[in-house]
Amino acid sequence: MAVEQTFSGDHGQQNNPLHAAQQLMYDACTRLGLAPGVYEILKEPARVFTVSIPVKLDSGEVQTFIGYRSQHTDITGPCKGGIRFHPEVTVDEVKALSIWMTIKCNVVGLPYGGGKGAVICNPKKLSKGELERLSRGYMRAIAPYIGPDKDIPGPDMYTNPQVMGWMLDEYSRIAGCNAPGVITGKPIVAGGSLGRTEATARGISFVVREAAKELGIDLTEATAVVQGYGNAGSIAARLLHEMGVKIIGVSDSTGAIYNREGLDPLAVAEHKAANGTVTGFPGATCIDPDDLLTAECDVLIPAAFENVITRANATRIRARLIAEAANGPTTPEADEILYRRGILVVPDILANAGGVTVSYFEWVQNLQNFYWSEEEVNRRLEMIMVDAFAKTYAMSAEHKVSMRTAAYMVALDRIGRAMAARGWV
Ligand code: GLU
Repeated sequence: MAVEQTFSGDHGQQNNPLHAAQQLMYDACTRLGLAPGVYEILKEPARVFTVSIPVKLDSGEVQTFIGYRSQHTDITGPCKGGIRFHPEVTVDEVKALSIWMTIKCNVVGLPYGGGKGAVICNPKKLSKGELERLSRGYMRAIAPYIGPDKDIPGPDMYTNPQVMGWMLDEYSRIAGCNAPGVITGKPIVAGGSLGRTEATARGISFVVREAAKELGIDLTEATAVVQGYGNAGSIAARLLHEMGVKIIGVSDSTGAIYNREGLDPLAVAEHKAANGTVTGFPGATCIDPDDLLTAECDVLIPAAFENVITRANATRIRARLIAEAANGPTTPEADEILYRRGILVVPDILANAGGVTVSYFEWVQNLQNFYWSEEEVNRRLEMIMVDAFAKTYAMSAEHKVSMRTAAYMVALDRIGRAMAARGWV
């Protein structure tokens, strides 16, 4: 493919997630022998826009925030993907995240393409009223370009059911009707799905279970370290603990704690809720968060930010299995090192796909006005995650590639066939 030159000169821009996503798509398309048009269409999002959001602060002053939405492709259905509130978010990151959503939705076989949105802000520094006005302002700005059949946002880093509830309300006012299918991750009473809060972590627990079977790890004898103790990390720790895994270390943005004898994840979550930090948890030792990542364990769950497993620490990681709850925690160089070292990495686009899968169930329930039990949600989630893991594992064994490359291949094979069926390539 002539597009190879796209990547010449990338070397100076390590850890640019957009370049990493493009490179992975390119490699997978090449390995699959797909028509060059497939990569050519997918390498850039179909539509990316910037919005400015003036918000009246509690002080009476007006401050303008900048937001983005990237709609990568709708080849396999409306765009789908979360909205991130973060002070350092960049447009390249949003574009990459939207590509990852396309791949993620297609690995698990959802009828969606990928999207992602973000607002540059520090939600921890905004009052509740300011956050509501910002959330509504962002929705007003993107409303003309989204909708239940076009692009369906959901939660992501530092956005939660309350933010989704405000956005649903703003969109519904504009549309002149209650339109719950426009956004997912809503509070249950506003059309949310049972099981959505736990979905990302539950998906992680299923892929850890499946991967452990392949590696011959007995989970009742296994240890795990969880980096990041937000929604995904804390619930994953609890679900793994319920499966018999000993959680020996966890961290959050304030520090890391360790106890070789095991921590009670629920008690740690209660301690964090009461004190705003996991540190100081009775019976645990405070350790350097960097040392936590390289602690000896069977399962490592990075559940915090991007680019935490890098060339610098990948050689020292002592886990046998890594399940990426965060998006993009491993840099491409680190990925290669881990693959060579025989550490199985279940990549984000598969491992954390439980979140968007239950978002899909939420949307289906909204469109049908027919709501499922939590058991039904979890049963369907398990079927999808187990099947996607098996397909990806088989692809990785057949082509002797990492699980990340294999997941891209599973997704791009489906996308390539959809493009051919519709006459795009
Ligand atoms: N933010 C989640 C992800 O990265 C889920 C997005 C959604 O539910 O739309 O997969």
